[in-house]
Amino acid sequence: MYTSQTNQLIDQLASEGQFLLLSRRSSELFTAEKDPVEFTLSNGTLVHIVAPGIIAFTPEEKGNKAIILSSGIHGNETAPIEICDQYVVDILTCKITLGHRVLFIFGNLPAMDKATRFVDENLNRLFSQAHSSASVNQNAYECARAKELEEAVEQFYNAPLSNKIQPANATPQDDETRYHYDLHTAIRPSKNEKFAVYPYLHGESHSKEQLSFLLACGVDTFLLSGSSTTTFSYFSSRQFNAHAFTVELGKVQPFGQNDMSRFTAVNTTLRQFICGEPLISKPYNNDDMLIYRVNQVINKHSDDFVLDFSDDLPNFSTFEKGALLAHETGAEYRAQYDGEAVVFPNANVALGQRAILTVVPTTLD
Ligand SMILES: [Zn+2]
Repeated sequence: MYTSQTNQLIDQLASEGQFLLLSRRSSELFTAEKDPVEFTLSNGTLVHIVAPGIIAFTPEEKGNKAIILSSGIHGNETAPIEICDQYVVDILTCKITLGHRVLFIFGNLPAMDKATRFVDENLNRLFSQAHSSASVNQNAYECARAKELEEAVEQFYNAPLSNKIQPANATPQDDETRYHYDLHTAIRPSKNEKFAVYPYLHGESHSKEQLSFLLACGVDTFLLSGSSTTTFSYFSSRQFNAHAFTVELGKVQPFGQNDMSRFTAVNTTLRQFICGEPLISKPYNNDDMLIYRVNQVINKHSDDFVLDFSDDLPNFSTFEKGALLAHETGAEYRAQYDGEAVVFPNANVALGQRAILTVVPTTLD
């Protein structure tokens, strides 16, 4: 039995759907009960609140997909947060009915309130146990949060959803296919506004179907990672064999200042996907997209690390072979190929962290 406060909360969520707002304003509401808060909507959908900003849904008639949509892993990347918030409102108020199990994660709630990328540590560098490594500040909010998110992902993909309600639809099926789209917006403008990072697959083949799906979302540029990382999407890909991507949807804007018309394709396509509606995506064709592989990962080793190009250079800007990209005491970093492009340059990272990624065009077999 829940306390009257929790019952009130459940009524409020089912009538207004403001899960994110309540998670941000009154996170204690979702940690007051010893067990997770669970309830059933009028359309039979099970709601399972794992923690503030983490909510799972199981529709009465569920399909064969287990889908994670995460946003706000960086707190100031507002557009995907607004998109996912609206999905959650529409699900809780029964405006839409899901076709598959879906877990929504709103990653960094305190950073959202401060309108910053993070509070103490970059959350998207703390997965796959990096949150417990000696090189990070263990007291950082993000370390505890990364651990909590990992557990939520594991529970969602692996374990029965509920420990109190155990109807047949609460148990994952063996034949479920797993998906995780970690939605971001980039700090700087990009020559290719929407792009996705495909985590390193350790030799497994890339899914052309997934690239076609993301193309339907308006994402036409793909970056194939060539090594293990500590990002959220790599964690889901590696640990749970999920189709997982870090998806960059445009440039960072403050809450309420996004031109949502720029997100129509992704908004509509993801909504159809979670609702189990038929999707119209073009068959895979290399010519429809730009595919890059990572060539250099340039880490910052000295405080005097500087970029040798303008600070507002768009992502995917290209260089001639031999062009100086950055330098620091004891090292110069240069393009190794004609047409080598830079992505995510940031001289203000901590020592030892990635300051630039360079990429070169490639194709899928
Ligand atoms: Zn981000």
